[in-house]
Amino acid sequence: MDAFFTDDERAFRAEIRSAIRAMLPADLARKTRAGIHLSREDMARWNALLDANGWAAHHWPEEAGGPGWTPIQRFIFEAECAAADAPPLSVFGIYLVGPTLHAFGSHAQKARYLPPIRSGEEFWCQGYSEPEAGSDLASVRTTARRVEGGWVLNGQKAWTTEGHFADLMICLARTNREVKPQAGLSLFIVDMRAPGVVLTPVITIDGGHSVNTVFLDDVLVGDDALIGEVDQGWGYAKFLLNHERTNNAQVHRSRREFERLKAFAAAPRAGGSPVLDDPAFRRRFAVLEASLSGLEATVLRVLVDQTEGREPGPEASIVKVIGSRLQQAISELAMEVIGEDALELPEAARDEEVAGWTERHLFRRVVTIYAGANEIQKTIIARSTLGLR
Ligand SMILES: Cc1cc2nc3c(=O)[nH]c(=O)nc-3n(C[C@H](O)[C@H](O)[C@H](O)COP(=O)(O)OP(=O)(O)OC[C@H]3O[C@@H](n4cnc5c(N)ncnc54)[C@H](O)[C@@H]3O)c2cc1C
Repeated sequence: MDAFFTDDERAFRAEIRSAIRAMLPADLARKTRAGIHLSREDMARWNALLDANGWAAHHWPEEAGGPGWTPIQRFIFEAECAAADAPPLSVFGIYLVGPTLHAFGSHAQKARYLPPIRSGEEFWCQGYSEPEAGSDLASVRTTARRVEGGWVLNGQKAWTTEGHFADLMICLARTNREVKPQAGLSLFIVDMRAPGVVLTPVITIDGGHSVNTVFLDDVLVGDDALIGEVDQGWGYAKFLLNHERTNNAQVHRSRREFERLKAFAAAPRAGGSPVLDDPAFRRRFAVLEASLSGLEATVLRVLVDQTEGREPGPEASIVKVIGSRLQQAISELAMEVIGEDALELPEAARDEEVAGWTERHLFRRVVTIYAGANEIQKTIIARSTLGLR
């Protein structure tokens, strides 16, 4: 990637690199390497450390409390965090809700909700999907009924990631049945501790708990919980989804995993030569390396577009499809490189490089499903860039 950067950007990278490495507690780096589902405390700790430097909301506009970095500087910052094994920041607050509230929220909502997202004191979850409304999100059946001074919400949200430790939910609900499905939706802020919010854990294939089913049973929210205009939620929701797709490329984490795996494969094995000496493995590493570099360049292009005021369009879908497939390809290769050691549980793993790979590989089935299933993204790409109907 060096060729992409100017001298100033390389100097910025050196400064960020040494600062991150000095700030990052060793126990958090170890947990990040071995784990896939970090606790709220772990994420909040790292968030607070970054916020002390003004770096937590690194991609927010300056007037919202961001550091005023260019997209390339943000890219460098995220790459350095991943390379140091820093915990990820909360996807929902920092990456999705913050930019959405900044773009469409009222003055009062920005003043109330943005500072605690930035400091890591409040966590959010995303209540979009429902049992019959995932890919077909416009079929959302959760309703918000107008009452004196606010709204009453009823319905069921599915797959709510981090709902069990979130303080607030950004919730898509139907406010109008008389118009076409997309036109009758609105976006609300729901307090996860409000009476009528009931949560059931969902355990995923890796044995972890990161997702939940959330029931909303006569949940009362105030007028000030509505984001933007009533019945305009579909537009705001799509804005958030495009941010989600670009972020879900996870290009920096993939780069870090790939480099770790390559180093592991290059190391001598007990009773044999390094895995990387095998031409078949070398070829697979080379193919992944090329795809990863291509993805990095594409993500940079999307980020540059964003600074020039263009919101990500079909590029967000392209980046999501390629990024998610790459994440799976890396963990598939890891399973083969690590071999039978992959069966060890993280806490029993003799080698830190082996810990957590199996759980990660299993959970990774999800990346082609969430943030909009890849099949749906391919249809968006076909329609918008290839003109197919
Ligand atoms: C672990 C996990 C975490 C998640 N976290 C969240 C979250 O925090 N908040 C949230 O709101 N949602 C979340 N989701 C939900 C996620 O966005 C949906 O699962 C996803 O949009 C797919 O919807 P679905 O599960 O209803 O599947 P369906 O829409 O029923 O799709 C099932 C299959 O059919 C295919 N398919 C459906 N329609 C078409 C079509 N028109 N053309 C071609 N193929 C099609 C899909 O690609 C998929 O393979 C999460 C999901 C998972 C698994």
